[in-house]
Amino acid sequence: MGLDELRWRIDALDDEIVKLICARLRVCADIASYKAENGLPVHDPEREGRKQADVLVKADEDLRGYVGAVYSRIFEQSREFQKAWQRTMHDTRHQKTIVSAAPLCDASPQVGARFGVLGARLGHSYSPLIHALLADYEYRIFEKGPEELEGFLLEGDFDGLNVTIPYKEAVLPYCTSISSEAARIGAVNTLIRLAGGGLYGDNTDYYGFSYMLGRLGVSVKGRKALILGDGGAAAAVRAVLSDRGAGEIVNITRRGADNYGDIDRHFDAGVIINATPVGMYPGNGASLVDLGGFRSCEAVLDLVYNPLKTELILQAEDEGIPCEGGLRMLVAQAKRASEIFIGCRGAGGVAEPRKGGVPDSAPGHIDPCASNESIALIERVVGTARRKVKNIALIGMPGCGKTSVGRRLAEITGREFFDTDELVALEAGKGVERIIAEDGEDAFRGMEEAALMDAAKMSGCVIATGGGIVKREANRRLLRQNSVVVFIDRAPDELPADGRPLSQLHGAGRLYGERLPLYLEWSEHKITARSDVGRTAAAVKEVLGV
Ligand code: NAP
Repeated sequence: MGLDELRWRIDALDDEIVKLICARLRVCADIASYKAENGLPVHDPEREGRKQADVLVKADEDLRGYVGAVYSRIFEQSREFQKAWQRTMHDTRHQKTIVSAAPLCDASPQVGARFGVLGARLGHSYSPLIHALLADYEYRIFEKGPEELEGFLLEGDFDGLNVTIPYKEAVLPYCTSISSEAARIGAVNTLIRLAGGGLYGDNTDYYGFSYMLGRLGVSVKGRKALILGDGGAAAAVRAVLSDRGAGEIVNITRRGADNYGDIDRHFDAGVIINATPVGMYPGNGASLVDLGGFRSCEAVLDLVYNPLKTELILQAEDEGIPCEGGLRMLVAQAKRASEIFIGCRGAGGVAEPRKGGVPDSAPGHIDPCASNESIALIERVVGTARRKVKNIALIGMPGCGKTSVGRRLAEITGREFFDTDELVALEAGKGVERIIAEDGEDAFRGMEEAALMDAAKMSGCVIATGGGIVKREANRRLLRQNSVVVFIDRAPDELPADGRPLSQLHGAGRLYGERLPLYLEWSEHKITARSDVGRTAAAVKEVLGV
């Protein structure tokens, strides 16, 4: 058979394939619509995994690898198509108007407007705390299942909402008008009820990420950027990077053409952004990438805000790469949402543009419409929120009073209290003294690290640690993610040794000499223990401003 004839056969097959792909994408459109209406995410990794396996079984054995690769691409493009379809076709179908400034909300905050956050699981949401710091309106939590979504959006008792996982895309069909950012990103994170009926949808994540990037003060112009994830937040990140002139922008996903398995192809990236929930509470400590290979990386941003420093951010700090966790973005997007709620970004009240342009690399390049007053408020709220969500970890010699001071501090600050020795004893069913005597110090240190791993994941607690917590470097990393560390110092001759086996064995003076440099190195504040527990706790409270 000649080449022409072989090509003719290929062309005929391609004609069939093109028709089948188009037919497949048309079914995808219906699937996208179903998913949007039922609050389901576009990507269903489990179904995709099963489908991939099914396809491979059907392929000729010697061609399986190639068929698998082609199907990965088909899955990826089907997802892209579903997202684009949800974005644009729904806009047309629901006759959405795309507007450049937020319209006015139906209710004014002065007459008791009701705002809140809508999501599926909101037990650990920081939004109520942040909105309480930003403005003076009622702000509630609306935890709804997918089956409740439509009724709530149409009839719910609210004037404005923040929308979070998993409904940022699902609320789109219910909007009668949306902002250009929401249209571009294909997701809505802020809704207001309109005076004439209907809902207006906006996406303030765009602003939040832009603000976060601006504050970090790193230019992305011409730089290759890696976005981990391709969900709603990743779309906002991509839009900002693209607007700021980033070079190549690559989304790394679990099963796409650019995935974590061959991430070394992208070691030349200059900026890395985590837009997945990996590393988020309670999955602390996880990271999708090891920064070791990224020799040209000049900025790492993580959208995750709980813990304040994810494993990725801790790695970036260790590598000396400028980095930023997600809290600042969370506050900035909330501030913009709050402006939409209270109507000051409406057609009649857009904030004053800042005077003069600023280059992309300047820390002040945040948003041409952000007033200095807004920036000051955001920064104040970031500071207060950080103080509130950070744990207070007390370190110091055995017998220096960490437990009693910690308990009192928890009382006067209204925080929950954990003591790692108590947690270990509870888990082991016996006290620390007996564990050390029967199982040895090393076994105890392992249990202590496990206890700290659980306690240090928490937010806004007081944690009293054992005197030897500083003996394991891993514990320092656990504390760095979400705690401010305070060293309670007491002179060795004032330290009691009863019930403290290591002080008895080695002598309190010697232990103090060995550990003092570590206590000082690990802590951000040193408080000398007063004779009175209450006064020591008050001194800690004062120095931390909590
Ligand atoms: P989303 O639409 O559900 O997208 C999540 C993305 O993460 C998807 O690409 C998903 O990939 C990926 N992903 C999930 N689990 C993964 C895993 N174990 N390994 C690798 N990839 C995984 O969620 P989103 O709205 O984009 O939010 C993403 C994260 O950003 C969340 O943690 C959210 O809290 C945070 N966020 C923070 C702010 C802020 O203001 N700081 C704002 C928005 C979002 P698959 O498609 O493969 O599942």
